Amino acid sequence: MKHLDEYRDPHLAGKLIDKIKALSHRPVRLMEVCGTHTVSIFRSGIRSLLPPSITLLSGPGCPVCVTATEEIDKFIKLGQQKDTIVATFGDLVRVPGSSSSLQKERADGADIRVVYSTFDALDIARRNPSRTVVFLAVGFETTAPTIAAAVKETKKEGIGNFYIIPAHKIIPPAMEALLAGGELAIDGFICPGHVSVIIGADAYRPVADKYHIPCVVAGFEPVDILQTIYMLLSQIEEGKAIVEIQYRRAVNFTGNEKALALLSEVFETCDAPWRGLGTIPDSGLRLRDNYRALDIETKFDLTVPRTQDHPGCSCGDILRGVKTPLDCVLYRKVCTPSNPYGPCMVSTEGTCAAYYKYHD
Ligand code: SF4
Ligand code: SF4
Repeated sequence: MKHLDEYRDPHLAGKLIDKIKALSHRPVRLMEVCGTHTVSIFRSGIRSLLPPSITLLSGPGCPVCVTATEEIDKFIKLGQQKDTIVATFGDLVRVPGSSSSLQKERADGADIRVVYSTFDALDIARRNPSRTVVFLAVGFETTAPTIAAAVKETKKEGIGNFYIIPAHKIIPPAMEALLAGGELAIDGFICPGHVSVIIGADAYRPVADKYHIPCVVAGFEPVDILQTIYMLLSQIEEGKAIVEIQYRRAVNFTGNEKALALLSEVFETCDAPWRGLGTIPDSGLRLRDNYRALDIETKFDLTVPRTQDHPGCSCGDILRGVKTPLDCVLYRKVCTPSNPYGPCMVSTEGTCAAYYKYHD
């Protein structure tokens, strides 16, 4: 296939659904580890077209949703510092922390600005030399290379008032943590497309080898996802557990060499807190010694008291795939996109927001 509309072709999709039905003989649970896949699956109505033996689960695939409450509380504390500008991607602003949100802090006078890239934040620092400017560095391997590039640029230019809070998350260790937790039985992973462009499909080999779970890297169009489901089912039927790439037009096995080199020059792995999954070893990124001075925590003490999620919010369970939004007592009753109680309803890639928009 060469053109995008072929990946949306209902005729091709119908053929794949027939093939899936012919191959599907027993209950199978597949997890998508990408918020964009979750939204695409809902938007295209794939769930309702699959045979009932196939269950699709949404996992920890949205960078905003997996940011832990303690990290949100730190961001809020940062916003309260004098002469500080906090620059962030949009969705984070509305995520509730233990007792406030960046949005509330902004209403109370904190200088919190939404930016579209780290370089926009760097520009704010250049234009405000007397203020401390901090970028909230959340996201997966997809966004981390741009942040690494901005960090390098800051050092090269000698910009003295730009910092980041490193709060990145790395996807493969979270997939392993889900399996090691033993809480849910997954038969296959629909692996994230954009993350895999950077890290390469080989990054999922430990998941496939150690846990004997088939992994297929998927594109984002309906035909991509159906083909991925067919590839996973084929592996399951044949008793295989290997890593395959459906999204070959963008992903290879070894990843983007330049981006990976940049990442490893600026960052090293560290343990990181995930909402719903706790602290996962080597699943985060911190600045290497050479760049550590750009970590805002070398300047301010951002230690926060014990954190607390909204009582009744099930975002943690939803990110682990053990509950769906329909199991949350707050869903639709009081928790809505305009009045979110947890991040899964805030983010456009969040599972609760996707259910709210597309589930009948
Ligand atoms: S960053 Fe890319 S791969 Fe990851 S959840 Fe978002 S869209 Fe999916
Ligand atoms: S519906 Fe709201 S409160 Fe419930 S899990 Fe989702 S975001 Fe949290």
